Amino acid sequence: MIVGKCPYCDGNVIAQKLSVQGQKVMLYTCENATKEYDLTESYVFSAEATCRFRIYSNALKHWNKRSIGQYEIKNLLEDGRIKVRLHGRKGTREYFKYAITDAEYGISILWDEEVHQ
Ligand SMILES: [Zn+2]
Repeated sequence: MIVGKCPYCDGNVIAQKLSVQGQKVMLYTCENATKEYDLTESYVFSAEATCRFRIYSNALKHWNKRSIGQYEIKNLLEDGRIKVRLHGRKGTREYFKYAITDAEYGISILWDEEVHQ
């Protein structure tokens, strides 16, 4: 399923269901950012890959956002940034931050920018 246009190369960004270590996750990947296992079993960009855009739906789990949904990715691709709801450790309240695409990490949070609701 296509969720939008890649911010880096104008290819299509495709949502794929994956199972990683028994956990179901979505991968949002540019069609030109294919990965494969090389001879040493390392998971690397394939020789044909011309792009690096890949975001896993659990990319923000460290901030207790369980999953990034398809609509969030769609908005991220259209607007260049999205508001994400994050949580502190158990019992602390939720808060909002902006997230943008990141060439190295796929998605990154703008910690210094306040979100006014
Ligand atoms: Zn791309």
